[in-house]
Amino acid sequence: MYLFRLTYYSRNVIKSLDSSVGKEIKAILDASSRNNPPAGITGALIFNDQYFAQVLEGDRKSVTSTFTRIARDPRHSDIVILHARPIDMRAHDGWAMAYCGHSEIVDPLYLKYGTAIGFNPAKMTAENLEAFIGDLVKTEARVASSSPLEPAGPRIPAYTRV
Ligand code: FAD
Repeated sequence: MYLFRLTYYSRNVIKSLDSSVGKEIKAILDASSRNNPPAGITGALIFNDQYFAQVLEGDRKSVTSTFTRIARDPRHSDIVILHARPIDMRAHDGWAMAYCGHSEIVDPLYLKYGTAIGFNPAKMTAENLEAFIGDLVKTEARVASSSPLEPAGPRIPAYTRV
């Protein structure tokens, strides 16, 4: 087994599909919870209404097959790979998903890794995006930040870890 990490961001186009955002996010969460642990995939997926950003870690074959499947998903577009490289150790001990919202604790993270409050991975370096994802999923474990997705469909936790 050769450890590998792949980091990308993409456009969230769920709103343009004939489906509810909450329902689709829940479906992504369910598929990831079902598929990632048995494949030995750790990492995190974060999102807002414009972007997704994800870190996938694990055996390089598993990371490649998982990413290949994700890349074909019509719920996002304009995928940009920032990093795809062998690693010595994982940065994530499970698989997590978090919403990039606003709160007194999350807002300073935007300023720590970028120039303005708000999530725009297109304006972040690969290193900053990876560090931001790591901090956000740790922070969201302690923060009950509200998600605008909640009224739209099934309740999506601001943070979830599997
Ligand atoms: P599905 O179409 O979900 O299901 C395939 C088979 O599993 C079917 O036979 C179905 O009947 C069966 N099945 C469905 N639900 C269940 C259930 N609850 N229990 C048992 N069997 C069931 N996917 C990941 O796996 N990991 C990721 O990290 C990931 N990240 C994503 C990030 C983004 C930005 C996006 C847009 C998508 C992501 N996805 C991820 C989803 C991915 O694109 C595929 O939609 C998903 O992996 C397909 O899952 P599946 O092969 O289980 O197919």
